[in-house]
Amino acid sequence: MYYVPDGTEICGFYECSECGQRFLSLQMGPTMVCPYCGETVDMEIGPDEEMPVVKETAKLLEIVEGENVEKMDVLLSLAVTGGNYEWI
Ligand SMILES: [Zn+2]
Repeated sequence: MYYVPDGTEICGFYECSECGQRFLSLQMGPTMVCPYCGETVDMEIGPDEEMPVVKETAKLLEIVEGENVEKMDVLLSLAVTGGNYEWI
């Protein structure tokens, strides 16, 4: 599959409030760092500097389970690759 490994039984369906990207993730917290527009942590920060605050802009829309995981993965990956699809 595109977003999650084959055989995934349950995953989170997220939408980013910053870039609008929708995606599936094995994480299922209420929010997460967007993998598309989220800031990567700067590794060159010195030990005395504060860690940058990474914004968790992706919000959990729903938990997807069972065979719906594969359906959602196909629908979302078609959207990304430019295919036509109809929302369920
Ligand atoms: Zn984003």
